[in-house]
Amino acid sequence: MNIDIIPVTAFQQNCSLIWDDEKNAAIIDPGGEAEKLIRRIEELGLNLQRILLTHGHLDHVGAAPKLKAHFKAEIWGSNSADDYWFQGLPQQSEKFGLLFEASAFTPDRWLNEEGEMIAIGDLRLEVLQLPGHTPGHIGFLERSKKVAFTGDVLFQNSIGRTDFPGGDHQTLLRSIREKLYVLDDETIIVAGHGAYTTIGREKQHNPFL
Ligand SMILES: [Zn+2]
Repeated sequence: MNIDIIPVTAFQQNCSLIWDDEKNAAIIDPGGEAEKLIRRIEELGLNLQRILLTHGHLDHVGAAPKLKAHFKAEIWGSNSADDYWFQGLPQQSEKFGLLFEASAFTPDRWLNEEGEMIAIGDLRLEVLQLPGHTPGHIGFLERSKKVAFTGDVLFQNSIGRTDFPGGDHQTLLRSIREKLYVLDDETIIVAGHGAYTTIGREKQHNPFL
């Protein structure tokens, strides 16, 4: 699996581009800077098949409609419990000082099922339901490659915020313990912000669990 992590927006949100050897690709959490992402995908000559979203926060979804329009790729995720965040995108944008504008949209498909498999060429992404930071937060696990894209759930030495409307600290801790800490220690966690980490490292060093 090939991975290119592209930090976007003032929030330095880690947008991940993944593709197989035949250049079948998906983009996870394109939070903004659509032009930059489009350029990168075209430079690499990728066939973008899907736009995947972990949750409805602006810095994770802001460029999704532009990428969809450009590449004719569907937007899948998050869980529908985050619909209020998608419908509230203009307000999210206002709150952050109109850093960039965003219109409300609804993904082409909600991913409400635990364990649903998404095929992108040779890659197999498994949907993990990871509520807590937002109620509809999900993650994408490539189990055979031991890599998970988990948005704002688990960070190096930290965890996601739960002080936004609909956030819940205990639910977040449960998601981490029951869905992430059960994965192999070598599993790489590509977090929504900051450096990537591994399950083993966080089990040893994360002060929140
Ligand atoms: Zn978030």
